[in-house]
Amino acid sequence: DHLKAGADAIVNALDEILVERIYTRANNCLDAESLPETQRIYFEDTYMFANEATVLNIFKADKNFIKNGSNDDEIDYYTVVTAQTIFHPQGGGQPSDEGTMQCVSSGVCFVVITVTSNNGTIFHTGYFNGEHFLKGTRVKQVIDAKKRSLHARLHSAGHCLDAALVQAGYTDLKPTKGCHFPTMTYVEYEGKVPADEKEKLMAQLEEILDKMVQEGIPTRINNPGIDGKSSRIVYVGSEEGCPCGGTHINNTNQLGKVSIRKISSKKGVVKISYTLSD
Ligand SMILES: [Zn+2]
Repeated sequence: DHLKAGADAIVNALDEILVERIYTRANNCLDAESLPETQRIYFEDTYMFANEATVLNIFKADKNFIKNGSNDDEIDYYTVVTAQTIFHPQGGGQPSDEGTMQCVSSGVCFVVITVTSNNGTIFHTGYFNGEHFLKGTRVKQVIDAKKRSLHARLHSAGHCLDAALVQAGYTDLKPTKGCHFPTMTYVEYEGKVPADEKEKLMAQLEEILDKMVQEGIPTRINNPGIDGKSSRIVYVGSEEGCPCGGTHINNTNQLGKVSIRKISSKKGVVKISYTLSD
């Protein structure tokens, strides 16, 4: 278990480096003027799994930087920028969506394997089955619905956990970092939980989270205005708002059973790991 956690941490660190390199690559390939802010359709609806979009730009991607990419020399990787997107980019502790973009008129298909964002622009990287699109092409975007739904649940569980801690009386713990990958799911807080309270708190949190699921609390989201200057505030399982750009369940009754795996507390950092089941 220890070894696996170490390996996961390394994979995550490498992911961060890859994401960074894709940004740099994208910025080198495109001049600043041609990088408009992408309209994030997933802000409006977590469960929109298909939608049409217009291709704004395409450039070749360096295959050495493609995570999950094949080593096959025959495959050329590209990065596609669209005016709007239903794809959530990797960030905020959430993995990116996967899926396809298919040209509405020719049927040419682009397989999206990783999605990143920088300065408001979203970059979809993957490969074409056939010829590549041209700028201005209308495409139908389709995301992996199962993965999106799972990612939204894993991430929303983090918000619910924040609220559950407050309900349990641990109001001093401040969330600092979340990791919501299916292979590794936890939230870190600034603060302390005494060793003799951990076991009781684990049971208490599960009980509160079970209750939240039964109560069916609707999620509220205040999306930023057209100016994009105000931040997006989400209310998940709580009346307390939280600035967040992630994908969320519509109601706590979609969460499923949250099991608290472990609470660790050292050097002023409390780490709460959890898993989800249906
Ligand atoms: Zn969120």
